[in-house]
Amino acid sequence: MNIHLIRSGGFDEDSFADLVDLLQKFEGPLKFIASSYDPKVEEEKIWREELDEEEYSKKKMPAMDTEYAAMSAPMEFPVERFTASKEDLLAECTAYRKEEDLGDEEFVILFTDLANELNWFSYGSDDAKDIFIHTEGWDYFVDSDLRFPLAHQVATNILQKLMFGTMQKLMEAVHEYPLGCINDFCQHKKDISLKMRTGDICPDCQGILQETKVPPALINQALNIIESIRSQMLFKERFRYNLQPSRMEVRGIDRRIYLTDLEDYKVKLTPLERTVYLFFLDHPKGVKVNSLFEHEKALYDIYRWVSTAAIDSSVAAMHNSIAALADPLGDSLAQKISKANRKFKDAVGEDMAQHYKILKDPETERHKIALDRDLLSYAKSVRY
Ligand SMILES: [Zn+2]
Repeated sequence: MNIHLIRSGGFDEDSFADLVDLLQKFEGPLKFIASSYDPKVEEEKIWREELDEEEYSKKKMPAMDTEYAAMSAPMEFPVERFTASKEDLLAECTAYRKEEDLGDEEFVILFTDLANELNWFSYGSDDAKDIFIHTEGWDYFVDSDLRFPLAHQVATNILQKLMFGTMQKLMEAVHEYPLGCINDFCQHKKDISLKMRTGDICPDCQGILQETKVPPALINQALNIIESIRSQMLFKERFRYNLQPSRMEVRGIDRRIYLTDLEDYKVKLTPLERTVYLFFLDHPKGVKVNSLFEHEKALYDIYRWVSTAAIDSSVAAMHNSIAALADPLGDSLAQKISKANRKFKDAVGEDMAQHYKILKDPETERHKIALDRDLLSYAKSVRY
């Protein structure tokens, strides 16, 4: 079953690529296909919304006798944002479906930074396997890794669509009291993170899946996605107690850096940032940055591997970059360190990042990476 993933321009390309990578790791009948199709809700159909809490609470969803706001993103009032109707958002899925001449069985899922009038995180069409997922507002309850809540939405929305067909039927079937089931009704906004932590299907809902003849392999695949997100969240929580960071692996001929316990998160360092980082990984005791010029040869050797994929790297240009890096009077090194540190912080949060950042040891004045080197490994594909 093909699941076509499309994104609007406001949801950035990198995050989208990360999400697609994650989803594609799970084997099974769901085939996730990323498209470069660029959906654009017409400007006149988007409005600027300014709401205070009272106005917001007056918004009602027709024909749904539930406290719909509970399934929505939390907001800080007053709110100012760009919003579109759910019909206009779903119309983008329809347009893509038409353009690509997709069959009825195939899903089209739109990721959009535009809010919707319901303030829901996601919404499915009653007529087709079209779904939109809102990409904003998640940082209120889950930390920086946006892949997880979005992948969770993808997996649950697909199951729910196959089980219930329409939003009305879904709303009739949700559990008012949490059972640790994907169809738990999130009474309180923070329940979504609770749901992501449990992630199972209760016996009643398993019965519905059987009746609706959802293939077991598909259910397994969706549950594997949900389970992996659950274990990631628990891993991060456990980190707060035992302070054991994720293992790190350096992999591939150009030596990419992965955090293996965080669902193989790829830390996206540029070639020069990676050169600096790998250099400090190689020097567990640290190096004084003003003596880096003594290590120009070592830096250059790393850089040669790291930039194998870069086409435009002439030998002279590479030497220049390394010389700038090692120049004690230049600011190239400080920039690379600060950018690399920032990327680790964004990936794992401030606390865990302390293990990965390149930081100056106040006693020795040397810069170093604190990571316990027992947690570091080099894949066989890394050549010396
Ligand atoms: Zn259930």
